[in-house]
Amino acid sequence: MNSPLRIWHPFTNSALDPPPIPVERAEGVWLHTKDGGKIIDAISSWWVNLHGHSNPRIAAAIAEQARKMEHVIFAGFTHEPAEKLAAGLRKWLAPQLTHLFFSDDGSTAVEVALKLAVQYFSNQGRVAKKEIVALEHGYHGDTAGAMSVSDDSPFTDPFRSMRYAVQRVPSPYLYRRPAGMTPEGYLEFCIERLEESLQEKADSIACMIVEPLLQAAGGMIVYPAEYLRRARELCTQFDVLLIADEVLTGFGRTGKMFACDLAAIVPDLVCLSKGITGGFLPMGVTICTDRVEAAFRSENRMHTFYHGHSYTGNALACVAANASLQIFEEEPVFDRIAAIARINRERLEAFGKYAAVGETRQIGTMGAIELRAEDAGYLSAMRPKLYQFFLDRGVLLRPLGNVVYVLPPYVILPDELNHVYDVIEEAVQSLF
Ligand code: PMP
Repeated sequence: MNSPLRIWHPFTNSALDPPPIPVERAEGVWLHTKDGGKIIDAISSWWVNLHGHSNPRIAAAIAEQARKMEHVIFAGFTHEPAEKLAAGLRKWLAPQLTHLFFSDDGSTAVEVALKLAVQYFSNQGRVAKKEIVALEHGYHGDTAGAMSVSDDSPFTDPFRSMRYAVQRVPSPYLYRRPAGMTPEGYLEFCIERLEESLQEKADSIACMIVEPLLQAAGGMIVYPAEYLRRARELCTQFDVLLIADEVLTGFGRTGKMFACDLAAIVPDLVCLSKGITGGFLPMGVTICTDRVEAAFRSENRMHTFYHGHSYTGNALACVAANASLQIFEEEPVFDRIAAIARINRERLEAFGKYAAVGETRQIGTMGAIELRAEDAGYLSAMRPKLYQFFLDRGVLLRPLGNVVYVLPPYVILPDELNHVYDVIEEAVQSLF
């Protein structure tokens, strides 16, 4: 008899973690488990869900498209769902962003942006401009290139040999500033360090990649818009392309459609994924300016961008994305976002009184509590305890080490979100 083929779950160590929970159906913010239980999805299933699980409008759009045309090759072909998505996104993007390239997920959207930036210079014969600047505490995905630009972490540690070198600059993570520095002083220090790096290596740097305003997987670090504005200016000054990784921050998460809108900057390249399909199907897109694409418009075949995944421009993912954009147009999505942001602010304020709490952070629908820990970081011993505590009370939260955060689907009701915060407060009171 062959042994059974067991599913190997992400971020799960079969020697340490409990077996996976079978989910039978999901509706709105609720996961319904096979044993008849209910779990509130307070992290939007790894940050992808916007308008609720099994949203009927998105589900209907996918079903209808599936009967007509599921997927066709996208090299040399196009289709209405993709064209419609480009037209739909057009309305939300700065006019300078003019070309959209499809891929499969957040990591591939990042890989595409990095490769476009490097080839942009090589197509112009400026082959020395190939290095990448990235922030400490940044996270951009799990594929080798995305892992290289991500900061060192337990996720990347075994793969040191596979990661290429990047110019790492300090993150304006003001809470963890060096002793003796004021927040303003540290922000200025980070900007100066960026300026020095760009100036010193202007001839060899192709691009800088950032998660705009919110470094998510690195610990839900919210940083001032001033840093992003200065980064934009410095990139322009030193002819460095700015890549905004809006894989998480896109589609309303920070209060505006895109985090770059909050800082009033326009990047040269934008990476989108996660919420783009409302959380139904995987899709990545990388959007760039005309200036970037122009470097690929050439009589020379070697200037072509030879990058294309099998499922590029998948029609089912496109109709899901179109249905999600339609929801943005027709339903009060930004009112829902504002209501979540208000509750986040109110509830986080109350956490200041607990000695275990180091800092609270909030931007739009994201609310985070950084707990004081000797072993701060993803592998903090607090993490498994907190995770189980929440789950035992029917709440799905996946703390990033000692940082507990809430990032719910936009359809969460005030009572439901307040309940999530009640459970977090109970954990802070009883566990520490
Ligand atoms: N960029 C950012 C900012 C992310 O948060 C993530 C995923 N957490 C990624 C890229 C990678 O996306 P994916 O997991 O879809 O490959």
